[in-house]
Amino acid sequence: MSARVLVVDDILPNVKLLEAKLASEYYDVLTATSGPEALEKVKRDGPDIVLLDVMMPGMDGFEVCREIKSDPSYAHIPVVMVTALTDAADRVRGLEAGADDFLSKPLNDTALMARVRSLVRLKMTVDEWRVRENTATQLGVVDKGGTAMNEPVENARILVVDDQDYDSEKFIETLKVDNDIVEVVKTGPEAMECVIGQDYDLMVISLNLASEDGLRLCSHIRSSERSRSVPILMVAGEDDMSRIAHGLEIGAHDYILRPVDRNELLARVRTQIRRKRFQERLRSTYEISLSMALTDSLTGLYNRRYFEVHLQKLLQKNETSRKSLGILMIDIDHFKSVNDTYGHAVGDDILKEFSERLQDKLRGFDMVARLGGEEFVALLPDVSNEMAHIVAERLRSAIAEKPFTCKVPDGSLTITASIGGTIVEKGTTADPDQAMKQADDSLYKAKNEGRNVSYFHETGKLNPEDFIPEPRMFLD
Ligand code: GH3
Ligand code: MG
Ligand code: MG
Repeated sequence: MSARVLVVDDILPNVKLLEAKLASEYYDVLTATSGPEALEKVKRDGPDIVLLDVMMPGMDGFEVCREIKSDPSYAHIPVVMVTALTDAADRVRGLEAGADDFLSKPLNDTALMARVRSLVRLKMTVDEWRVRENTATQLGVVDKGGTAMNEPVENARILVVDDQDYDSEKFIETLKVDNDIVEVVKTGPEAMECVIGQDYDLMVISLNLASEDGLRLCSHIRSSERSRSVPILMVAGEDDMSRIAHGLEIGAHDYILRPVDRNELLARVRTQIRRKRFQERLRSTYEISLSMALTDSLTGLYNRRYFEVHLQKLLQKNETSRKSLGILMIDIDHFKSVNDTYGHAVGDDILKEFSERLQDKLRGFDMVARLGGEEFVALLPDVSNEMAHIVAERLRSAIAEKPFTCKVPDGSLTITASIGGTIVEKGTTADPDQAMKQADDSLYKAKNEGRNVSYFHETGKLNPEDFIPEPRMFLD
């Protein structure tokens, strides 16, 4: 897939020059010659990256950048400021407006392509998480979370790998402003040892280490599981341009040239920290939404969606298993009248305690899900018929034997449940729908038998007296 680059410059020859360079690398190039036109194209064409001239009449580059970065729908699009200005103060101004990087005119081709490639790659990753976040938002499980610019920059843990004391002192001194925790090491092996024991928000790596090649270290960091996603900021000299390009190629996120300007350092570090925190937030939002999509919010049990997938898996496993699979459908008796008499809140409290009692009486690898309403299912892998009967009776009596404490005049209510069970014999192929129908039919029969009853497919109604006292063998 070719990435789409928007080139913005008020001087047409500049636009044409960049357009030609990028087109020769197979980028799809869009152009604009003013700030307002640029914003319009950002909104309409959704570029993957914007190369933005700073000095333009009317609306200048800083303003365009701020505008893009303050809108959650576009803030993820990387913006590179292209400038004739070499003044560090202007770079800082741009980074503060949310620019992702700077390139100086005349453009160095290697730096240009390396920048564009690495920022486009970064955007692809963020896009992936944004799609997932979007789904989660649509499902209504999370609120849409702002932009990277909203992330805090303070209290980051930063590992500096540099053997020039002058540099590292400057880093420590500068980053104090943000209360960052800065650790300094002088060699690659020491750095690897640090990243194995600790998570960092950023690594600053010198490409001019005396003892080894800083690029090799960058590549090690990238390939180690623990440190794979730590952003890397390279520190190098102006004549290291091709090594810097190589570093960006293998996954370093950014670079800063010596002599290091304090404000620029601070701005670049903050950009990396914000981005990392933003990505982490998108990821954790996704994980939360995933767990919310698979569990029931009232009881914390798995939901029907999860149950269906799990049942399918267990039935497949059962084809070669040496023990059978038990399925128990569990339904609270006359629950409607509990709700009608005492209200929904009391009903909800009972559902919660009911769920806890079921879980308490099952083994760790048994699974219980709430299928909806007051209907539950337990899956018991690796059971004999006899054990499945014991478990069903154990569950039934765990509900009936002790009243449920709840906000009713008497302080508690006696609740009962009916259980319909079936056994999928070991070594057989079973259809999930058919297995569930057998359990469901058994539940129906349990209700017909007067409720507070366990009823099994083929076996019929269980006699509670056969299960008292419960044999010890299945209690662990
Ligand atoms: P049966 O013994 O035949 O199962 O009778 P029942 O009243 O339990 O069954 P029915 O299916 O007629 O009613 C189920 C009731 O469960 C309806 C509704 O009031 C209640 N219910 C379903 N979901 C919830 C819930 O999430 N919270 C509460 N409080 N009640 C629920
Ligand atoms: Mg019921
Ligand atoms: Mg029901």
